[in-house]
Amino acid sequence: DPDPRNARVLVAGLGASGLAAARALARAGASVRAIDAASSPHARRAAEELGPLGVDVHLGVGFEDPALLGDAELVVASPGIPEHNPLLASALAEGRPVWSEPELAWRLAGGRSRLVAVTGTNGKTTTTELLGTLLAAPTGGNIGTPLVDLLAAAEPPEVVAVELSSFQLRFCSTLRPDVAVLLNIAPDHLDWHPDVAAYTAAKAQLWAEQGSGDVLVLGDDEGAREACAAHPPAGRLVTSGIGPPEPGGVGIEDGLLVARVGRAGEPAEATEILPVGHLALRGPHNLANAAAAVGAAVAAGADPGELAEPLAAYQPGAHRLTLVTERAGIAWIDDSKATNPHAAAAALASRGEGRRIVWIGGGLAKGLDLTVLEPTVARYVKHALAIGASAAEIVSVAGTVGVPVEHTGTVEAAVARAAAIAEPGDTVLLAPACASMDQFADYAARGDAFAAAVHTLDGRDAEVG
Ligand code: ADP
Repeated sequence: DPDPRNARVLVAGLGASGLAAARALARAGASVRAIDAASSPHARRAAEELGPLGVDVHLGVGFEDPALLGDAELVVASPGIPEHNPLLASALAEGRPVWSEPELAWRLAGGRSRLVAVTGTNGKTTTTELLGTLLAAPTGGNIGTPLVDLLAAAEPPEVVAVELSSFQLRFCSTLRPDVAVLLNIAPDHLDWHPDVAAYTAAKAQLWAEQGSGDVLVLGDDEGAREACAAHPPAGRLVTSGIGPPEPGGVGIEDGLLVARVGRAGEPAEATEILPVGHLALRGPHNLANAAAAVGAAVAAGADPGELAEPLAAYQPGAHRLTLVTERAGIAWIDDSKATNPHAAAAALASRGEGRRIVWIGGGLAKGLDLTVLEPTVARYVKHALAIGASAAEIVSVAGTVGVPVEHTGTVEAAVARAAAIAEPGDTVLLAPACASMDQFADYAARGDAFAAAVHTLDGRDAEVG
């Protein structure tokens, strides 16, 4: 493999991580060419910054033409560029290495910080943020600061809590976390990865480089266990979940989060961490995230006796089961971050039994099979409202299990219908099971549109009242 410090490198994609990668490479002495499909204001700002560092920047050139590889000995690819893209496919076919930005970070500055790294289909950000507070460590990777900015800093942090996506892990080959966390695996991103096996193999790269002294924290999830069986870890396994804790694991007993794990993931005497009622996190899936975070924090050296306070103080991020308003006995909840069926199922299950949910679902399905939602919809949904590009599939899912459903198209129309349908004691839940890019810039814009429409109803009520 080339030494990035004196290689000819093509940086493909100048988003936040591509910019950080190109900057770090140029500073390290590499000869860098950077390309971006867009010539957006962000890309132009990146070009302005990189030019003086000697980076050869080309904007608006796309990523389709393999000739763009030129004489590059190494490609650092943005996570947005799928593996089947012609440029990457041709680099891989020719045996030119392709790295993600976290792999570059590790090659340039690995070993200077210990990594506690999280992946999974859902719950990555919540768990990574929790770990940041439990370990008093900076967070980065797929959220916030690119890993290369943290690891290659003049004074790198001792420990970093890193979120890694399957796109980033697909192009990692040497990155090695001391503590890895696999929360769960369910089909996702099949417009990027060739198939579920490839998606799983990418996730398994998180622990592929680990040695016997390292730790893998496993969520209580069928897909995660299967991935672990197919790609056996070399290090110690710490189990986590919402059932009673196993020896060497974390779980919930009599309403208490309990750790039976010690430093480096060794089994230890049971320690009560805190009553789960003290958490601001809601829903079984979030308790599972908290259990995994506790397992990883203790394995990374945190004192279990000191975790209650930061755990209780943690506030979940926006658009993750966020209560927009509660009025006339109806809760309006924004879980726009539920961008795959597995996440939507967790959101639907988070409100208890009784079919009291008016569910707003649909969007960009990314090649995913939405019919997996049928049993969950049958169990929890009173009335479904279908939006976005996959509205017809949502209509079919609900129709198949006999749940009333309407094709409303937009979030605004869905909110207006929900207001007419919902009764006191019901929840109106936006949990689309799909990505947002068919109608919105991102999941946050979709959640904001939902909240704005709900508040418009408030205004209408005020006028009427
Ligand atoms: P990620 O970074 O993996 O997207 P987040 O913490 O942002 O994860 O949560 C994304 C969405 O996934 C949430 O809105 C919630 O609906 C769902 N979710 C979170 N944790 C889990 C989990 N452990 N299992 C299933 N769904 C989850």
